[in-house]
Amino acid sequence: MTRLAGIMGWPVTHSRSPVLHGFWLEETGIDGAYLPLPVRPENIEQALRALPILGFKGCNLTIPHKQAALSVVDRVDPLARRIGAINTIIIGSDGSLAGRNTDAFGFRENLRDAAPDWDPTAGPAVILGAGGAARAIVAALADAGVAEIRIVNRTLTRATSLARDLSTPKVTITIHSWNEIGIAQRHAGLLINATSLGMAGEPALLLDLSSLPPLTPVVDIVYVPLETDLLASARRRGHPVVDGLGMLLHQGRPGFEAWFGTPVRVTNELRSAVLATLAPAR
Ligand code: NAP
Repeated sequence: MTRLAGIMGWPVTHSRSPVLHGFWLEETGIDGAYLPLPVRPENIEQALRALPILGFKGCNLTIPHKQAALSVVDRVDPLARRIGAINTIIIGSDGSLAGRNTDAFGFRENLRDAAPDWDPTAGPAVILGAGGAARAIVAALADAGVAEIRIVNRTLTRATSLARDLSTPKVTITIHSWNEIGIAQRHAGLLINATSLGMAGEPALLLDLSSLPPLTPVVDIVYVPLETDLLASARRRGHPVVDGLGMLLHQGRPGFEAWFGTPVRVTNELRSAVLATLAPAR
């Protein structure tokens, strides 16, 4: 009767999801297991279709499967369809596969925890990046009631696709090059790094924050290192800062709750357990 779930990726060894779900399984005492499932890109459809046969309740997806799985599953929830990627699959009692994207949820819950005073109507949100994570964050912010989102990205065509896919009548998405970043920060109510810049092993992200209003929260979704150069410089200037670990932890909650049938929380003990498994900061 052991309940089974896991994460499919290629490679999958870098994923912290087994630690996260393992912590919750131990904390809740549920008879369950959460397994790393290395699956090559060419085998994703067969692997997903095998899950109900093997008795799995569902799985998470990581690189490179998040987009490809969209065309395999039987149902995709509207938010995941808008974002264009799924990271969580829930298997129904009839063996069908339902795809969701929980990154937007993870972002929103982390922001709520770490910057509870943030007001979506305080001003435009500036997002650095236009990749998969940025798309989920745009959806989260639009749903939270932000009226203007400024995307700053190296590759402008990627930002244009994001704006085309995620614009709604209630949100204006504008596109900016990196040399317009100072202008984009003016009057902003939130600044988010959703690029891989600043991550250990990647180029640094050194921003001039002088045009950002003093009380505007700064979020970095990079979590290795936990305190990025961006967060350190924002902290020195007195901005509320939000690190990326909470987003990673919160995005796991909907899957756990669906597969194992119990709500779970993000606690300091969980943060410490996952932090202990992350590579040392530079
Ligand atoms: P992605 O789809 O590959 O997008 C990467 C983004 O970074 C793109 O906007 C890319 O710009 C930009 N970028 C990369 N190298 C750059 C450089 N040298 N100069 C300027 N821009 C550069 O990746 P993703 O899935 O969105 O993830 C982005 C980051 O967020 C990663 O570090 C990932 O670990 C982190 N993340 C964290 C969480 C969390 O839960 N905390 C969740 C998801 C992702 P171009 O479009 O110009 O290539």
